[in-house]
Amino acid sequence: MKAAFPYMGDIHIILESILRHIGVETIIPPNPNKDTLAMGAQLAPETICLPFKVTLGNMVKALEQGADTLIYVTGFWSCRFGYYGRLQADILRELGYRFDLIELRRDRIGEIISRIIDLNRKNIPGTLVKTIRAFRLGLAKAQVIEKLNYSARITLPFVKDPADCRKLFQSFTEKIKSSMHPGELKSIRRSITDSFSTIPRKSSNEVIKIKLVGESYCTIEPFVNFDIIWHLGELGVLVDPFLTGPRWLGFHGFRLGKSEVARIQKKAHKYWRYCVGGEDANALGHLIIAAEAGYDGVIHIHPFACMPSTVVQPALIKASKDYNIPLLFISLDEHTIETGFLTRIDAFVSILERKRRSLKNPLEKESQDNFSKRVIPQSEDILTMNRRNL
Ligand code: SF4
Repeated sequence: MKAAFPYMGDIHIILESILRHIGVETIIPPNPNKDTLAMGAQLAPETICLPFKVTLGNMVKALEQGADTLIYVTGFWSCRFGYYGRLQADILRELGYRFDLIELRRDRIGEIISRIIDLNRKNIPGTLVKTIRAFRLGLAKAQVIEKLNYSARITLPFVKDPADCRKLFQSFTEKIKSSMHPGELKSIRRSITDSFSTIPRKSSNEVIKIKLVGESYCTIEPFVNFDIIWHLGELGVLVDPFLTGPRWLGFHGFRLGKSEVARIQKKAHKYWRYCVGGEDANALGHLIIAAEAGYDGVIHIHPFACMPSTVVQPALIKASKDYNIPLLFISLDEHTIETGFLTRIDAFVSILERKRRSLKNPLEKESQDNFSKRVIPQSEDILTMNRRNL
């Protein structure tokens, strides 16, 4: 079996190790790029969301590289994510590709286990040992990747030369990819903090803090979000994404961190009683937590035509007013141009810096208010603009 699966950010590093340990050869297509997106957009239904198009292009590349089995997480979601797998499989089969489809869903657990046992020549004790080892390795990789991303994020805004941070990040990523022993991964994990602390720093310690919320794929995948976390970090902004690849995998793949999600969603309850899918309640809960923790602003990033991210916007606007925290919405699709995207981000950061200065120097406040009125449309204007654009 040569299996491929849709991925975002760095989760393929974890999944590839788990699958390899339980006896599955994996095909990892190149990281998403313009070609992948153009191919996916050409084959996908026109109005479907951006993650579908990127992952479809990715699957075509995997099949061309020899994959004969596609693995998808599917199920009964309230948005489109639950049927991505079946719809992509139909499109790919119509194009003439032949492959097996494995759906990872709760009501098919028995079927999945029996396929893993078959792969290991029906050796049940052997399969059990391999599976436990595979998940231990997967967990160790997830923890070290999480720590690496965190260390890079909290170091980048303070360093003199961002290239030093990028170099260190890449060298650790290579070590994590090649390591196949939980013990070795533990020692890599221990050395991360010390290594990042040796990078020369700027003299000032003051930074703008932004919470990044929105749809999972757009938050996590650097190709579609134009590497927003590194871009902001290089501008001297401390970015705190509400979700990372390993955390997404832990929750959606293995239901880890349920109590944390329940705590966040409880925060949102005043504005959002019923989850309609995606990350609607999470975005609201994290906006409130960010405001209470003194963050300077929130960016909500989502695909154009993403149902949950669109319907939650009025509630986010209300909460941002109630908690007095600036909020920027960014919607992405295959036509989004990097320059326009980054200009909006940079303008938002300038506004947050002015706001911060005006809190220290009230004389600047009046010009700040006028500036904001000119640059940021008021909440109601944003809604009208969206309606006009539709
Ligand atoms: S959350 Fe939005 S972008 Fe993600 S699958 Fe659902 S509708 Fe599409």
